[in-house]
Amino acid sequence: MDGIKQTKRRPARTVKVGNVLIGGGAPVSVQSMTNTITEDTLSTVRQIKELESYGCEIVRVAVNTTYAAQSLKDIIKQVSVPIIADIHFDHRLALAGVEAGVSGLRINPGNIGDKKKVKEVAAACKAQAIPIRIGVNSGSLEKGILDKNEGDFAAAMVESALKHIKLLEDESFYDIKISLKSTDVLTTVRGYELLAGHVDYPFHIGITEAGTVFSGAIKSGVGLGILLYKGLGDTIRVSLSDDPVMEVIAGYHILRDLGLREGGVQLISCPTCGRAEIDIVNIAKEFERISFKIKSSIKVAIMGCVVNGPGESAHADIGIAGGKGRSVLFAKGKIIGKFDNEEIFNVLIKEIENITGEKIL
Ligand code: SF4
Repeated sequence: MDGIKQTKRRPARTVKVGNVLIGGGAPVSVQSMTNTITEDTLSTVRQIKELESYGCEIVRVAVNTTYAAQSLKDIIKQVSVPIIADIHFDHRLALAGVEAGVSGLRINPGNIGDKKKVKEVAAACKAQAIPIRIGVNSGSLEKGILDKNEGDFAAAMVESALKHIKLLEDESFYDIKISLKSTDVLTTVRGYELLAGHVDYPFHIGITEAGTVFSGAIKSGVGLGILLYKGLGDTIRVSLSDDPVMEVIAGYHILRDLGLREGGVQLISCPTCGRAEIDIVNIAKEFERISFKIKSSIKVAIMGCVVNGPGESAHADIGIAGGKGRSVLFAKGKIIGKFDNEEIFNVLIKEIENITGEKIL
């Protein structure tokens, strides 16, 4: 990597979610969460498969009812990505999740009742080698903990996390991941920095309820960018008020821009101006959406005219430079040909399929 060097990854113990390693130097993984009703097995499976096709490595589903817990078995049978059950308060749902074959639980042991219940959940998870993520959220801190920390959310989140961790450690359970999420970037960063001084469990990082695909992706990019740059993060979830596929796309963007994951499309597209000869904005948008299915490393330039178009396109693996009625297609620095603007998009896709050997559409 050129220029400034990233901080070394914080050494964290390894946790295994299905076939995905988290921590211990494993690649930072990308996860998301379904937004379907979990009982609706058909829609949930469809969404998980869609997420899988975009490279999502772990999928979390809300398990808030016995019916949701019952549909887990069916869901897990039909998908290959590891499934994590997200559970609040009810330890019976956690036990049902383990029974159904989930690869991980997200549950805060301090919220599920007495020690006996924590013991039961920890024992069930241990028997199946299922890790537990403790997920502390600034919006649902225990009563009094914020006042005790004089309104310091970061410190309060850390105290809360340590309390939950202790409950599991008391059961000799150490297969733990932790998240501390706030809607505020700097509070989240400080929380993880503080917690890193206390434990070596891997960190699941994210900015909670970050917003829409536009503001949320920016906020997450800034927050996760800082954390990852500091070496604090082992798995990420970009939380967006949108199709969860966008979370996966944003997640890979962040990791690739930091040089933490390889592969995929690097898209160079011009902002367009009065010289543009083709509809760059829509071509680039349409291309970007499908481009996230491409696994190979490839640089694609989508340029509006002959001013910068030929130069950028020639330096990319493949590119188009818009022209009046007809646009030029470049591959590996050479002109492949001139094509009608109506067909240039399809020609571009076909040529990328030829170069990568991947079927895109
Ligand atoms: S490539 Fe052409 S259309 Fe695009 S911004 Fe540059 S000058 Fe404008």
